[in-house]
Amino acid sequence: MNIVILLGAPGSGKGTIAGRLASEDANLKHVSSGDLLRGAVAKGTPAGQAAKAAMEAGQLVADEIIAEMIKDVIAETQGDVTMLLDGFPRNVKQAEVLEAINAPIKSAVLVDVPDEIIADRIAGRRTCPKCKAGYHVKALPPKVEGICDKCGTALTIRKDDNPDTVKDRLVVYHRETEPLIKFYEAKGLLRKIDGNQGPEKNAAAFKAAM
Ligand code: ADP
Repeated sequence: MNIVILLGAPGSGKGTIAGRLASEDANLKHVSSGDLLRGAVAKGTPAGQAAKAAMEAGQLVADEIIAEMIKDVIAETQGDVTMLLDGFPRNVKQAEVLEAINAPIKSAVLVDVPDEIIADRIAGRRTCPKCKAGYHVKALPPKVEGICDKCGTALTIRKDDNPDTVKDRLVVYHRETEPLIKFYEAKGLLRKIDGNQGPEKNAAAFKAAM
């Protein structure tokens, strides 16, 4: 098992890229910290209850909560698998958790998208609550409006995708997550792609870079 970290702002397309690559290659496993947390919130587990308020406010949940979930997933992933780790680490403390367990990190790929474009992207974002497939009303519309192509479920808008919360999430990104670019650069693990090429080319560029 080895790990490729996806770095990038909220709405930069990390989840779309990882989902697309994982659906094409059985050796790639997409692990999204946001999906793990939303699952815990939906189930009402203790971790979910503790995470809910921070998520709705666009703030980071406590490091320990998400770190435990990610460590569990890493521990149970074995064999010839590359994990596409999306949304973790999100600050230097979380990156140090991966160091402490000697996680086999192959690369950290930054999906680069300017802030001006992010707001539009998130405003049009729709998600399948059942299979987690992601869509965009303009850039990546489902075949039937409002319905998931893969499983036929009605698409939803995430609670934290409203414009005010998005602004807060970008502030958090620049303050907490951006320092990871230097962190992985110093280790010689950083790669960078232009995340503004459309879903298909983004995914191809990512695959080449990772
Ligand atoms: P996006 O990439 O669009 O910001 P995510 O699905 O990755 O969305 O995350 C949604 C929310 O879940 C974040 O705003 C945050 O509250 C929480 N979250 C996800 N990953 C982490 C993490 N590694 N550390 C702390 N909070 C996290």
